[in-house]
Amino acid sequence: MTPEEISALIKDKGITFIDLKFNDLPGLWQHFSMPSSELTGVDNVAEGGLFREGVGFDGSSIRGFQQIQESDMILIPDPDTAVIDPVCKAFTLSMICDIYDPITRQPYSRDPRYVAKKAEAYLKSTGIADTSYWGPEMEFFIFDDVRFDQSVNFGYYYLDSIEGEWNTGRQENPNLGYKARYKEGYFPVPPHDSHQDLRSEMVKVLMGVGIGVEVHHHEVASGGQAEIDMRFDSLVRMADKCMMYKYVVKNVARRHNKVVTFMPKPLFQDNGSGMHTHQSLWKDGVNLFYDPKGYGLLSQLAKYYIGGLLKHAPALMAFCAPTTNSYKRLVPGFEAPVNLVYSMRNRSAAIRIPVYTDNPKSKRIEFRPPDPSCNPYLAFAAMLMAGLDGIENEIDPGDPVDKNIYELDEQEAAKIRTVPGSLEEALNALEEDHDFLLKGNVFTTDLLEVWIKYKREKEVEPIKLRPHPYEFQLYFDL
Ligand code: GLN
Ligand code: MG
Ligand code: MG
Ligand code: MG
Repeated sequence: MTPEEISALIKDKGITFIDLKFNDLPGLWQHFSMPSSELTGVDNVAEGGLFREGVGFDGSSIRGFQQIQESDMILIPDPDTAVIDPVCKAFTLSMICDIYDPITRQPYSRDPRYVAKKAEAYLKSTGIADTSYWGPEMEFFIFDDVRFDQSVNFGYYYLDSIEGEWNTGRQENPNLGYKARYKEGYFPVPPHDSHQDLRSEMVKVLMGVGIGVEVHHHEVASGGQAEIDMRFDSLVRMADKCMMYKYVVKNVARRHNKVVTFMPKPLFQDNGSGMHTHQSLWKDGVNLFYDPKGYGLLSQLAKYYIGGLLKHAPALMAFCAPTTNSYKRLVPGFEAPVNLVYSMRNRSAAIRIPVYTDNPKSKRIEFRPPDPSCNPYLAFAAMLMAGLDGIENEIDPGDPVDKNIYELDEQEAAKIRTVPGSLEEALNALEEDHDFLLKGNVFTTDLLEVWIKYKREKEVEPIKLRPHPYEFQLYFDL
């Protein structure tokens, strides 16, 4: 949409508010609203003013942004992202914004969306491809809107407070019946699947704001875990959609007195929530990942891309699995990947090659370590840069590992690299290995430094400093 079309839309439909949204550095949408009359005046939308001049805001209290002495920032909405806000009761036009420095009038280097835009531009500049496509499979948990009581949650499910579908052999109160069986399949129809209607409502709202959805289903964990898969899209557009997805899913849950969490591992001894990310590179409408003669119908270019992802995986995890909780998911036994190998079959492999069809258009690779606690703009940009580094340097990913990794002999098994064991290790890896991200100025040194510092100071250290509830179980009576 052009600014003029937006202005006309506001007048024709009688839209009352404009809501401007943008990302903080960790990846939570921030927003403020303005009466639309502010924007349809002579100096404003009618003349494209908002889209040229932007609106000021104080960036100092936004996580990861400016220091207090240089706090003023400018937001300029992207008219292509305009949709009727699916959550606000007042008739509101929602737009995602880019962030600018008010003095230089340049895009702000810590704006995650700007990083994603630069990654797309860098891809084009290499001449390797013109478009990358992204298909994240976001998983999440739906709980009753009663907070976990931290004082009694010793890492076991706190059963009273959670959706009643448990069959874990532990205390169940109340017993609601028709519970999905723990680790005995997760697809049974309602009433076992008690969130069917809720997920359908989420999908309808997503489709209402122009987000294509391919499937929704209950996921493996017995605590009401869900998955809704969006139809693939290009990098920035898909990251925008990920933000809208979280917004819609959380708000629809709230309407029904439920809460949704994208935290990767909320429940001990059950599957975590991943964000397996399908990706492919295209040029002139041709999928560059397809080759009918290659392993899993993959081209040599796709293999190099895999080589880049695997080589840089430890550093990538600082953006793709960027929370301390992420590493409670990345352990053996819960379908989350730990091994830095690729395979057509192995679900413990970091990269899976889906092989349901020989249609060239659907050829892609699935990178499984990411989880939905990531900032999608930064995670997609980092993965693309790693893959491109693989292509540019012809990084050989080695042979696929289609054998059961748990049955390899010790020598063979020892050769297999694994994902980092903690956020701390991932941040250290990023500190060591980040030249691939700096190409084309996609990530800046400033952004990498602030990311590492933020994650260490606000997440890694505070977690280390706190006695863990389970330590009381282990040590209190020693
Ligand atoms: N929940 C699993 C993960 O953490 C994935 C399960 C699946 O989609 N097969 O990655
Ligand atoms: Mg899936
Ligand atoms: Mg899944
Ligand atoms: Mg998957």
